[in-house]
Amino acid sequence: MEKIDIGRKILSENEKYAFENIMFLAERGKLCLNMISSPGSGKTTILARTISDLKDKIKIGVIEGDIQTDIDAERIRATEAPVVQINTEGACHLSAVQISDALKKLPVEDLDLILIENVGNLVCPSAFALGENGKIAVLSVAEGDDKPAKYPGIFAKSKVLLLNKIDLLDGGHVDFDIERAKTDASRLNKAIEIFPISAKTGEGMANWYDWLLESIQKT
Ligand code: MG
Ligand code: ZN
Repeated sequence: MEKIDIGRKILSENEKYAFENIMFLAERGKLCLNMISSPGSGKTTILARTISDLKDKIKIGVIEGDIQTDIDAERIRATEAPVVQINTEGACHLSAVQISDALKKLPVEDLDLILIENVGNLVCPSAFALGENGKIAVLSVAEGDDKPAKYPGIFAKSKVLLLNKIDLLDGGHVDFDIERAKTDASRLNKAIEIFPISAKTGEGMANWYDWLLESIQKT
């Protein structure tokens, strides 16, 4: 009984900060997206490429979540985008209070878009609202086409699914049925937009950029 009560209290504390973040972003008309995937799907590479490919059109700020190190933040810093690193010291997800602090450290007024790279974990981060305008799921073809069926939560809640590393499909190095992943994700979420991409070669990235630019305009 007591356990349940504590759980509820933690969740509502998170929701309180998430609501504050929603208001903070809405007052300034800023789009903020929460990128979620397992470790190694290519989130940081997607971010770095997106920032440099769109640098003449929009200004992007990044909040980097990691359990330890600032390796990813360094990679973002190399693009000259403003970045705030959050080390969760063991926690497997970001929480709304951490985003609230990070938003105060970013030059939000100068930005068109804030991208959050959540801690690498396909399950738990999807349960914690951060006050973002939408979630972006990333799944690389190296991970297997069964992931939407096996980990439905994140695919059900995301606005976009980026199917990354499609360059690995050439030459048959991995068995990944794009259509199966698309069908399973769409079954969970009729509205989800699915973009097969390679952040390494740039293939398909234009579709993701079009979606981003359109979403910024609508915010
Ligand atoms: Mg990363
Ligand atoms: Zn967690």
